Amino acid sequence: MVNRRDFLKSASLLSMGALAACNSKETAAAPAAEVNNPDKNFGIQIYSLGNELYAGNLADNFKRLKNMGFKYMELAGYDVNTNKVGGVDFSEFKKMANDAGLAIPSSHVNAPALFSGVAGRESRDGSDGQFNRSMIDKVAESFKKVAEDHAKQGIEYVIHPMLAYLKNEDDVKGFAEMLNKSGEVFKAAGIKFGFHNHNMEFARMVKGVDGFRLPTVLTPLTPADGPMIMDLLMDNTDPANVCFEMDIYWTVMGQQDPVVWLKNRANRIEMLHVKDFVVLGASGAMNFKNIFEQFYANGKKYLFAEIEDIDSGKQFARMEDSMKFITSQTYVK
Ligand code: MG
Repeated sequence: MVNRRDFLKSASLLSMGALAACNSKETAAAPAAEVNNPDKNFGIQIYSLGNELYAGNLADNFKRLKNMGFKYMELAGYDVNTNKVGGVDFSEFKKMANDAGLAIPSSHVNAPALFSGVAGRESRDGSDGQFNRSMIDKVAESFKKVAEDHAKQGIEYVIHPMLAYLKNEDDVKGFAEMLNKSGEVFKAAGIKFGFHNHNMEFARMVKGVDGFRLPTVLTPLTPADGPMIMDLLMDNTDPANVCFEMDIYWTVMGQQDPVVWLKNRANRIEMLHVKDFVVLGASGAMNFKNIFEQFYANGKKYLFAEIEDIDSGKQFARMEDSMKFITSQTYVK
């Protein structure tokens, strides 16, 4: 059984090769020197702030995000059992955000029938996320309440943030079918449904006795000539039901160039998670300029800043530094 957490850890050690490959000369991130127009169309994935978002006064914290330059946010932490976000009533949460000048176009929600934890705080003890085809209808059914709650708040997108535990090519295709059926539930509620990647989706399958299976050690560098999980997900989902939110940091950690994916899958990648090692732009390793230019050329709109390490106690400060960088870059619209 592939251990997701171990994979994420080990894959992050492999990063520099891919970063070098994706980091062409003119695109190394410049220091935040060139001030263009601080008024950018940029959002935040609130997972980035962890519990800091809820420390003190939430309305004031929303204003702080607005003052950093954010226009909109993507939720994490919605709980289907309570219809609360981070423990705050969904309607109240949305009103406070809107009052601060922040729209909420999107929300991360794991399938309730598949993961017991709320998005961003999934159980990592291995008991969650075990998938088999018999769960497809149950998962789609479990999304009905999610769709209803989000439709009431006028949320445009609901995104499934995690890949399930999968064994072989048939499981991957079954997971794609699950996304398709779930997408139909959301479509009926007037919401677009999508999937958010980590690095594991860029692993290729290996040939086993019963067809292709996932490699035992799930890394994109495992010698394997089978299909890539991400291609299977995109090829086996209906664009009318399922879009993709590409996390560009995890894509690079998967040894892939986000620009290539944005060119080849222009009609499937709807939104981006914009991430660096920590503070956006600080490493100089992420190819933001070329990535954003291709994203804009594709006619897409929503960019969400994201930072991991959510229990650091420094997430607001890191986001402030990140937005100083973003708002100073002339190529950011
Ligand atoms: Mg992400």
